[in-house]
Amino acid sequence: MARGGIKPGPGLAAYLEATKSADILFGAVQKHILVKATRPDGRRQDVLHPSEMIKPDWCHRAAFYKLLNPPPKGPTTFVRENVFQEGHNTHAKWQKWLQEMKRLGGDWYCESCRQTFWDDETPELCQLCSSPLLTYAEVPLNAPALTIGGKSDGYCPEDNCLIEIKTLGLGSIRFEDPKFLAKYELEMEGRGQVVDLVRMWRDFRRPLPQALRQGQLYLYLARHFEDLWVDRITYFYEFKPTQEAKSFTVLYDESISEPAIEGAQLITDALAAGRPPRCNINPGGSCKNCRALDTAGAA
Ligand SMILES: [Zn+2]
Ligand SMILES: [Zn+2]
Repeated sequence: MARGGIKPGPGLAAYLEATKSADILFGAVQKHILVKATRPDGRRQDVLHPSEMIKPDWCHRAAFYKLLNPPPKGPTTFVRENVFQEGHNTHAKWQKWLQEMKRLGGDWYCESCRQTFWDDETPELCQLCSSPLLTYAEVPLNAPALTIGGKSDGYCPEDNCLIEIKTLGLGSIRFEDPKFLAKYELEMEGRGQVVDLVRMWRDFRRPLPQALRQGQLYLYLARHFEDLWVDRITYFYEFKPTQEAKSFTVLYDESISEPAIEGAQLITDALAAGRPPRCNINPGGSCKNCRALDTAGAA
């Protein structure tokens, strides 16, 4: 109903009351989520994260400063937190399916004894206390010699592959591959722009660029540092508007990860020497990421 379209009548007071209480509850949920978001989330701050390392603007100098002085959590919004939670839910769903199929290896957390153990296969019971209450704890990918710490979404030993689970929405495409999105933006006569989602999803034929680089880096870490025999990564993409899904499998290509690995080595050496590395985004100068941290360091 349009705004202002309600006429005074017997139902009006109840309607207004319902709206008011719905708003209060909705407001309370939002507050709850925003308060929750300020609590520590267990994300390590003493390591380089693969998801950061593969960004086009990953600055070695800024990364060095952040490892020395971890920044406090930045501001967030309800929508942002909601997107994160939806991502977690989607991960859990696909992992559960692979677990039911007995195709999933990795770390498992036992709800009974609260310990985590590795299993190359899908376990029925906890290795430590025989409890059946197990939660998948994904695939740790750590390279202490390079100060890298990460986690892949899944490991399927029978298929020699790691798993990445992605949700695809307009936001992620707009951010990561605006040229691809632009092909599906239509001008509506005097009514602004719309996106032809059906055609866009139909033509979506490869993982987004950052996901590709991230997956290759995971494979690199799995092979070089975790002794996992994997030679490919499978991406499950779920399209938010329709819940349709697609998958892509990409073979290992070591050369793609070389710049990120070299960067991690530079930062690790710089930490040992106690001297910040140079900005690699704007060689000879500074970029928006390291500039503010440089000033903070000098202050
Ligand atoms: Zn246990
Ligand atoms: Zn920089």
